[in-house]
This record gives sequence, structure tokens and C-alpha cells, in this order.
Amino acid sequence: MRTVAVVGASLAGLSAARSLRRQGYDGRLVVLGDELHRPYDRPPLSKEFLAGTIGEEELALESDDEDLQAEWLLGVRATGLDSADRAVRLADGREIRADGFVIATGAAARTLPGSEGLAGVHVLRTVDDARALRDELAGGGRLVVIGGGFIGGEVASTACALGLDVTVIEAAPTPLAGPLGETMGGIVSALHADHGVRLLCGVGVKGLSGDERSDTRVSPDGVRGRVDAVLLEDGRSIPADIVVVGVGARPCVDWLEGSGVALDNGVTCGADGRTSRAGVVAVGDCANWYDPRVGAHRRVEHWTGARERADAAVRTLLSWGAAEPGVPRPPYFWSDQYGVKIQFVGHAAGADSVTIEEGAADDRNVLAVYRRAGHPVAALGMNQPRLFTRWRKQLALAAS
Ligand code: FAD
Repeated sequence: MRTVAVVGASLAGLSAARSLRRQGYDGRLVVLGDELHRPYDRPPLSKEFLAGTIGEEELALESDDEDLQAEWLLGVRATGLDSADRAVRLADGREIRADGFVIATGAAARTLPGSEGLAGVHVLRTVDDARALRDELAGGGRLVVIGGGFIGGEVASTACALGLDVTVIEAAPTPLAGPLGETMGGIVSALHADHGVRLLCGVGVKGLSGDERSDTRVSPDGVRGRVDAVLLEDGRSIPADIVVVGVGARPCVDWLEGSGVALDNGVTCGADGRTSRAGVVAVGDCANWYDPRVGAHRRVEHWTGARERADAAVRTLLSWGAAEPGVPRPPYFWSDQYGVKIQFVGHAAGADSVTIEEGAADDRNVLAVYRRAGHPVAALGMNQPRLFTRWRKQLALAAS
């Protein structure tokens, strides 16, 4: 292979570039991304960076002396992949020809229709989003977070510590029921009430209202006013000075339409990162890998998966057809909320029982194990890092 193009210059793209060099690839390496920044870490964006305890330089994913001998093309979007002609098309008209491609374009925050142009409304995916939100939170006031998932929970926790008056709105009866199941989702989200954050569940958001008297209403940059309330489907109106829309992310794969790379909730991949096109692999939040443990495809949006699976994807790229697909480690993620370290490994879906093996739910200090037909399939820890690590290893062994 003489040229490899990595599309997406963040955690998964950087990890793939590192893996390529580690696995002995010494050809031309092009890493391209549409953000202007060198790869940076996203988890602190809702935690320490948003709280103002670390700055932008501490987000860097590369070390100062790291040199991957790569050509970095930043601030340019890939608009298409011609997998027959083996070229990535760029928004500025250029084309990068390559023998191998790593798709690592991640995911983008979903927005709320109708929120465009309202000042005070934020999403949180990039460092630019985080800087804008951090600046607004510094002014204090009433924050309404739409979506009680992990990012919504972390923003609520950080804003609460900064002294804002916080409300979280969640459409489902229990936040986090999807990833953690209803019981444990309820226990984790009870952290909000412990800290005086209002949690309104089981109600949808109808829209946002803006302050028609605002001076910014007719600003030349398209701002039509400032948000002043979140309108709920049950008729309530929740006053807001700042709104964060935390309703999930969508995989960034539009640019692959028509490329012949199969897409279904992201890039459809085998258990080794291969796509439907030879010489094209995908990794990270944009990739919907087959998980032999559950016998289905699972797209996970977790830091550890984006980093670890790059090795397997690169092995596949460099030895197309020859390498045996291994079984990826069970998905793992963590979240920090209100001083509690939450860790989760495995798949809660499909479990038929959850038992608390250590600690008590009331103390927000638990280790819970999810089982299917008596076999452990997932574990959740709240401030139980040592015991959790033991379960994480055990689940990885059981899966291998
Ligand atoms: P991304 O980081 O999304 O990077 C993809 C890159 O590709 C981006 O730079 C994007 O702009 C670029 N791109 C997209 N389309 C194109 C295109 N057409 N052309 C060129 N470039 C393109 N995970 C955890 O496990 N624990 C946590 O506590 C945690 N906290 C998080 C907090 C926040 C605020 C966020 C946003 C995420 C958090 N995550 C957490 C998730 C974790 O950060 C992601 O799983 C990880 O960033 C995925 O890396 P990636 O490289 O696949 O995708």
C-alpha cells in the first residue's frame, strides 16, 4: 500500500494513524479533517473544560514530540469517496488518491428544529461549542438542558457546580434507561435531585420561545432573538436564559452517499472494521461494527472504542482478507457527574436481571451486574473503580 487517507482528524483518526505506523506501514499518510484544530479530547468539554479548570492546550491528544510523518489537511471537508477510482473528494475541489482509506468522521450533535438563530441555545460536540457555552455559563442564570443522557447529565452537573439554576428535561420516563436499563438509569439520574437540579421526565419539548424585545433580534449574523423559555408538550413553559440541546448525535456519513460503502446507522462494518468495499475500513463513532457477542451491529459512541478498535481496523486494512477478525472487547464508557465516577461495560440490552453486588443505591455508591440467563453481560459502577475494573476484566475474558 503506498498511500493511506484517514478521513476525520480526531480520536479515531489519530489512533488509526498511530496504529498504521506502529504496524509498520511506511508509505504516504494523509490525515484530513474539517475542523481547524489538531486532534483534541472531547470528554473534558462537558467536564473540566466547561468548568474552566483546564484550558484548550490541555485538550491536545498528541504529545509535543510526536511525529507520525503524516500530511495533515485541516479545515477541509471530505464530500465524497470514489471507492472504484480510489479517491476522496474534498470541498475545496481537491482529490486525494489513495490505496487504503480509514473512515473516522465521528458524529455530530443533533439539534432541535426551530432553534436556529436563537441566541443562548447551544449544542456540545466541539471545542468551539464548549468555549461558547462556557462563556455563557460564566454569566450565571437559568439553564435548561434538553435531554437527560450522559452529556446532558454532565453539563447539568458542571453548571450546577458553577452556581446556575438547572432544569433537565427528558422525554423518556427514566433518563439513561436505554444504555443502563430502567432501574440503574433511575439510580444514576437521581444524582440530579441530590444536587437540587430539577428533572422533568416523560414530557416532550414542543419548541423554544425567544424574547421578541431583544436587541439582538435583527442582528446581521442571523440571530433573531434570545431564548427565554422551553415550551413543553404538556403546555408548561420553563423559563430559560441558556438552553443546551443534548439529544444525541448522528453519525457523519452523508459524504459517503453513493460511494458504494454500505451505510446503516453509520458505516456498516464487520467485527474487524471492514466495510462493504475492499481497502476501506471505518472506526470510531461513525462506525457500526458487528459485535459477535450480541450477534448484531452496534454503533457505540465511546472514547475507548474509538481508540482501541483502530488497531483492529488497521490490521484489517493492511492485510485485507488474511487476518482473522478477533472479538472486540466489550464496549466501555465512563461519565463524571456531581463528583461520582460512573463506569459501564458491556450491553445492558438483552439482560434479564440486574443485581447490586456491592454498596447501596441510596449512597450512590454501587456495583451492579447485569445478567442474561445467569451469565454476566454488563456491569455498572458508581464510585466503585476497583471492583468495577475486576468486573471489566472478567467480562472481557468471558467474551474472548
Ligand atoms: P469525533 O471525535 O466526532 O471526530 C470526528 C472528526 O471528523 C471531527 O473532527 C469531525 O469534525 C470530522 N469530520 C466529520 N465529517 C467530516 C468530513 N466529511 N470531512 C472531514 N472531517 C469530517 N466518551 C466516553 O467514553 N466517556 C466520556 O466521558 C465522554 N464524554 C464526552 C463528552 C463530550 C462533550 C463529547 C462530545 C463526547 C464524549 N465522549 C465520551 C465520546 C467520545 O468523545 C467520542 O466517542 C470520541 O470523540 C469519538 O471519536 P471519533 O474520532 O470517532 O469521532
